[in-house]
Amino acid sequence: MNSLISVDAALNQILTSFRLLDIEDVSLDDAFNRVLAEAQFAADSLPPFPNSSMDGFAVRAADLHAAPIRLRVIGDIPAGKAPQFSVQAGEAARIMTGAEMPEGADAVVPVEVTDQNFRQTGELDLPDFVQINQPVKSGDYIRPRGEDVQAGQRVLAKGTLLGAAEIGLMAALGISRVPVIRQPRVAILSTGDELLSPDQPLTPGKIRDANSYSLATLVRQYGGIPIRFAPAADSIDAVRIRFEEALAEQPDVILSSAGVSVGVFDVVRTVIAEIGHIDLWRINIRPGKPLAFGQVRGVPFFGLPGNPVSAMVTFDVFVRPALLNLGGRGDDALIVEAALERPIRSDGRRTFVRVKLRRDTEHGRWIASETGTQSSGALSSMVLADGLLTIPEGLVETSLETLYSVRLLRPIVQGLP
Ligand code: AMP
Ligand code: MG
Repeated sequence: MNSLISVDAALNQILTSFRLLDIEDVSLDDAFNRVLAEAQFAADSLPPFPNSSMDGFAVRAADLHAAPIRLRVIGDIPAGKAPQFSVQAGEAARIMTGAEMPEGADAVVPVEVTDQNFRQTGELDLPDFVQINQPVKSGDYIRPRGEDVQAGQRVLAKGTLLGAAEIGLMAALGISRVPVIRQPRVAILSTGDELLSPDQPLTPGKIRDANSYSLATLVRQYGGIPIRFAPAADSIDAVRIRFEEALAEQPDVILSSAGVSVGVFDVVRTVIAEIGHIDLWRINIRPGKPLAFGQVRGVPFFGLPGNPVSAMVTFDVFVRPALLNLGGRGDDALIVEAALERPIRSDGRRTFVRVKLRRDTEHGRWIASETGTQSSGALSSMVLADGLLTIPEGLVETSLETLYSVRLLRPIVQGLP
């Protein structure tokens, strides 16, 4: 298998293995960043009763045409108490923000336009009379029943990604548990005799395992639950044990990094040949190229390249769409078009260039410059990058006039145009 297969062909084939996961119920405390599995309807109206939007006096607007005028104060309505009386002509009731409007009243007069500015005076005793200095219109400072939401209304569509407003609204509507798509469980394995954990001191010939941490973080970022394993040595037994440990966690996906170029890959391949099957592809992508995909006892398996940047980029291109499919999440990748600061030569593979972006206000466009070394091992270049600029396959020379797509890796603090 010497020819390179295209990114799109590989991705299409991969995505046929990923369907929406099943549903689970979670409490609102656990609902953040989850995907709603069923539309939600309002059992009650919001607000459930007409209430005052100000501290003041509930009145009959018709009484105030000749304001200033004195009204008899017949009662107090604090928030949380249903009024037990109705307001008749010539009467008013003191009312607090959020308290239910009494029968008979059709407007609220804010306390500031009365002679009872209890907020300033601190005087809390209910007065016998209140002087109202200005007229109000019927409906003033009243939030009608159902102003926000009508009972029976569909408030959230299936597939909604739940954030603060959605969760707050469900709380207001008494929806305390919510059906969401289960999060994909992703086992993350790394292989290599050279790998140490971050807490181990460096010894000759060794490096620390970066990939299982960056990949676990990406899994989290796209809504999955990472199950990270310590690095396995490059031996059939060690790798087999790791795969068995991973399978015992009942993952929806298994990710491994490294050992997919040549030689050592045989270890992973031998193990997978026993318990599953695997396709090894040389993909028309830089960084990346070698990618293994298959399944292990029915669980989809990705073997990503070992170089830390290649692992992250191939995750973004191949694993991320698979996780979005499993989790029912829409693709929220932000793409901007940018001109290159300096020309870049490509080898004709689809190339992802780590770039920093700056705004060229004169021409109203983004300018992309490379973040130093593009070595596929240089993680610091990912730290510096605002995004990945794509040079399409087949292109060797870039032009400064052409705009290229940049997939943003983080929000750009200076803001989009
Ligand atoms: P390999 O695919 O095993 O040939 O690995 C390619 C490169 O990636 C080598 O330089 C490895 O040392 C490096 N590498 C492999 N796994 C990791 C890892 N988990 N963290 C950091 N670097 C790694
Ligand atoms: Mg290796």
